[in-house]
Order: sequence, then structure tokens, then C-alpha cells
Amino acid sequence: MHIVVLAGGVGGARFLTGVLAAASGAEVTAVVNTGDDVTMHGLRICPDLDTVMYTLGDGIDEERGWGRRGESWVVKEELATYGAEPTWFGLGDRDLATHLVRTRMLDAGYPLSDVTAALAQRWQPGVRLLPMSDQRVETHVVVDDPETGRPRALHFQEWWVRHRAALDARSFVQVGVDDARPGPGVVEALRSADAVLFAPSNPVVSIGTVLGVPGIRDAVRAATGRVVGVSPIVDGAALRGMADRCLPVVGVEVSAQGVGRHYGARADGGLLDAWLVHTGDAASVPGVDVRAVPLLMSSPAATRELARAALDAAGIAP
Ligand code: GDP
Ligand code: CA
Repeated sequence: MHIVVLAGGVGGARFLTGVLAAASGAEVTAVVNTGDDVTMHGLRICPDLDTVMYTLGDGIDEERGWGRRGESWVVKEELATYGAEPTWFGLGDRDLATHLVRTRMLDAGYPLSDVTAALAQRWQPGVRLLPMSDQRVETHVVVDDPETGRPRALHFQEWWVRHRAALDARSFVQVGVDDARPGPGVVEALRSADAVLFAPSNPVVSIGTVLGVPGIRDAVRAATGRVVGVSPIVDGAALRGMADRCLPVVGVEVSAQGVGRHYGARADGGLLDAWLVHTGDAASVPGVDVRAVPLLMSSPAATRELARAALDAAGIAP
């Protein structure tokens, strides 16, 4: 059995732990957003790939949800004493080793997919970890500059981490996406999958960015397996995060129904065959099998049950 999961960072990583627990023996491919990738201090950083890799490789700091467990911050402090910008991005000492290896390999000419496979050799995440694309795609956010009042684009990480998404966004721009191609193996994986699952990741800047790579949306639509989405919106709010700051920017209501309709029914030119919403959340998405189940990934057992419900909606009995 082959399961493909479209994923962002924290929500994607947790959901993947559930899929691995629910479907032991299955082959699992994670197609991960790289639109958050950024270069800082000369190093290429892939926040979502790293969150998935560290989580599945048992190296994540569970409390923070990102970065390494047992992290220290000596380099960050030293950079700050030089006044080296940016100072608002947390780069731990252990984490830095990952970025050093990645940057060195990229500089030597290896594509991101090869670099990711090399890093995964160490972490053994238990899934095939595929970047959505080997080409650089970077999400930028257009805001009104608080000082000049004029529109200004900043990198998604700066908006999200430095400004905590507090600046009103006018639009998101996926710089480079028009020239990007799906990463090696992505389209083939979607085509051969017995089920395609959308993790409860940010529908705009995680899943939306993956689907924006030319060819990926069509491959999902053409998948032979059923396509099942999991809502990141529970009771009208985003869990652990600020996805509710992103949805209105693209004209989507912050509700499980709003996101479900945004993805749309496959039968209707959209993407979904089934949509999981949280128990008690009502959603009507024409043409889609909507199921209400507990969506809180609050423990390994709850996360496994959620994945099981997604596989059940995909018509797969693990
Ligand atoms: P990021 O890249 O680290 O921001 O992470 P993702 O895009 O993968 O996931 C962020 C989304 O995960 C947020 O929109 C949250 O609403 C959602 N999320 C986090 N925890 C849970 C959970 O326990 N259940 C569900 N259904 N969604 C969650
Ligand atoms: Ca992310």
C-alpha cells in the first residue's frame, strides 16, 4: 500500500506520525512545502522539511514544535553580539549543522531532493521525504509598510516569525512558482498512490503552495486513489498557529466548511473526495464525503486514530 501525504511543518509532521502508526507496513511518501525556505547568514534553511525530518526522526523539540531537542544557542548569541541580522530567527547550534550540510551540498550542485535524501539517511524518518520542487519557490507577503504606508513585500518567515503575522497581509506571492517543476518522484507518487491525504497544514502557505507548483494540482486531480483532506480549522480557529491570518487574504472563511469548499470536490473541478472536520463542526461541501471525527492531535493515540479515520475515508483499511 502506498500513501502520499501533502504536508507543511508542524501540522504535517504530527499527522505523518499518525499515518505511520495507523498504517504500519505501508509505503508513505511526504510531499513537503518548500515555500518557507529562506537563506540566512549564508545558509539555506528549509523549515518545513526540517520539522518533518526532526519530528519523524525523534529529534524534534516537542514543546516548541520546531528545532532540535536539547538545543543550545551559542552561535545565535555570538551573531547577535556582532549585530548580524537577522536576529529574530532562532537558529540553534544543533540545527545549524543541518543547514551547513545542506548548504554545502546545494553549493556543490546537488538538487534539494538529493540533499534531503542525504539528510534523511541520518534521521531515518520512515517516510520518503520529497521536497515539492527542486526549484526555489519563496512565499512573500505584501503588507502596507507601517512607516511609509506603501505596499512592501517581505519574506514569509519575516512576516510570520518576526511580526507574528500581525501586519495585515494584502496578498501572498509565491516567487518563482511559475518556473518550478514538481520534485523528482512527486507526480509518479501521486499517480501510483492508493490514497492521497492532505495533512491539517496551513491551506494557504503550506498545502496551497505545494498545489501551486505547476503539475501538482493536476496530478492530485488525476490520482487513482481517493483524496482525503483533514481540516486545520477546528471550531472556527486555527490550532497552534496563525492560519486564520492567511485564509481571509485569499477570500476563504476561517471555518472547516470554508477550507473544504476552497479545496473543492474532485468531481467538480476541485481536489477532494472526502473531508474530515472536527466532531461538532458542521460543514457542507457539495460533492465531498464530509465526516466529523476528533481532529485534535493531542496524543500519539489520538493522532493515530485521526490518521485511521483519514485512511478509512480513503477506502483503505489499514
Ligand atoms: P507550519 O508549516 O509549521 O505552520 O505547519 P503546518 O502548515 O503543517 O500546520 C499548521 C496548521 O496545523 C495550523 O493551521 C493548525 O491549525 C494545524 N494544526 C496544528 N495542530 C493541529 C491539530 O492537533 N489538529 C488539527 N486538525 N490541526 C492542527
Ligand atoms: Ca511552514
